[in-house]
Amino acid sequence: MSVLNMVLYPDDPLTQKAESYEEIGPELVKLKDDMVETMHAYEGVGLAGPQVGISKRIFVMQEPEQDALCLINPEILNSEGEQVGEEGCLSIPEIYADVVRADRLVVRALNEHGQTMTIEAEGYAARIILHEYDHLEGIVFLDRLDILSRQAKLSEWNEVRARVLAEGPTAPRL
Ligand code: ZN
Repeated sequence: MSVLNMVLYPDDPLTQKAESYEEIGPELVKLKDDMVETMHAYEGVGLAGPQVGISKRIFVMQEPEQDALCLINPEILNSEGEQVGEEGCLSIPEIYADVVRADRLVVRALNEHGQTMTIEAEGYAARIILHEYDHLEGIVFLDRLDILSRQAKLSEWNEVRARVLAEGPTAPRL
């Protein structure tokens, strides 16, 4: 397994819509393992393909005390309710903001073996899924803020980004 390089916002392909997988080959098992290792190295709870330079519809996620999941070509079949909670992003380190999300979801996706899974998620798990799903659409959590909050967070990020790049952008923060 290997830790993959993290793409920082707004570098490509983070703002692009990712492509679906046409078939699930054996390389997806290794990609899942690498993405999970990368997520752990950066102490994240979710990681999407575009964050490691892969503009494909795949993400991994892990709730506390649960096994890591890999969702490929995810579809949100239903979403209900509303929750507000703080989010951050491995591609926008050190920046946090409250984001409004649906509270309950039904999601269908393939796993790394090409098997169809239907997942019912609520609360924190729903938040992770929606944050990662947004990455596949080229959207980051800052895009979900009102315009003034977004501008304030983007100017904070510009300063952090300059410092992070000077320190070395790919170092996992262990
Ligand atoms: Zn993110």
